[in-house]
Amino acid sequence: MSHSYTYERRYRGRLRAALLDWAGTTVDYGCLAPAAVFVDVFAQRGVEITTDEARIPMGAHKRDHIQQISQLPAVARRWREVHGSECGTADVDQMFASFVPQQLGNLADFAELIPGTIETVATMRARGMKIGSTTGYTGEMMELLRAEAKRRGYEPESTVCSTDVPSGRPAPWMCFQNAQNLGVFPMEACVKIGDTLSDVAEGLNAGMWTIGLAKSGNEMGLSEEAVAALPTDELARRLARAYERMYQVGAHFVVDSIADVIPLLDVIEARLAAGERP
Ligand SMILES: [Mg+2]
Repeated sequence: MSHSYTYERRYRGRLRAALLDWAGTTVDYGCLAPAAVFVDVFAQRGVEITTDEARIPMGAHKRDHIQQISQLPAVARRWREVHGSECGTADVDQMFASFVPQQLGNLADFAELIPGTIETVATMRARGMKIGSTTGYTGEMMELLRAEAKRRGYEPESTVCSTDVPSGRPAPWMCFQNAQNLGVFPMEACVKIGDTLSDVAEGLNAGMWTIGLAKSGNEMGLSEEAVAALPTDELARRLARAYERMYQVGAHFVVDSIADVIPLLDVIEARLAAGERP
């Protein structure tokens, strides 16, 4: 008789950690620092790309990101027109080699905290949550950016870079490494928060609750001032598109920015208490 039934184990406790992205999530409103550098390294090879094209793979390891831009059909066509051949591994390596110093050169200029970061992190800690972070930046870039953020009052307990793991987003490895660093499990007790589609994919692949940020990061791709200057209908149209894109890739929740996530923690904990999984 008893073999007719199966029993399932569910986590019904509270949230134990938040894993936050960096650019466009906690620092660098609009995720502006990397976008310009991608455009630059392609221009150095005689191939024009738009900022929108540069933003499509955002969140990935920066070398993967360069390769993914080169594989966009329109970019691949322009590359062939200029070079007479495909953009190969050596080309990607060469562009990544020039990307690194250029990115290191402008990171500090885009290190201001996104409004709400300090307050949100403080509230999460007061609720007993630990703060980890993941990023497409390399270890060298993060050393610089972490110091800049710390000076401004933001310091997560754990930071894992795309260069610390076998592969960056959308693979879940940076999340698992954070969980290990923080001593936190199960993964359904953790929430991933980020501004790109690959952030959402990373969180879902790790089995976490996932919150997309539509307004402060790569999906809008504009500084806080530029967002404020948008005509109301244009802002509404662009925001609606960003919300839709993030829901389409499976985000559990989408809000404007990190300043809006605290009410969602109660929602997630109520769902956990009811026996739900991400
Ligand atoms: Mg980001």
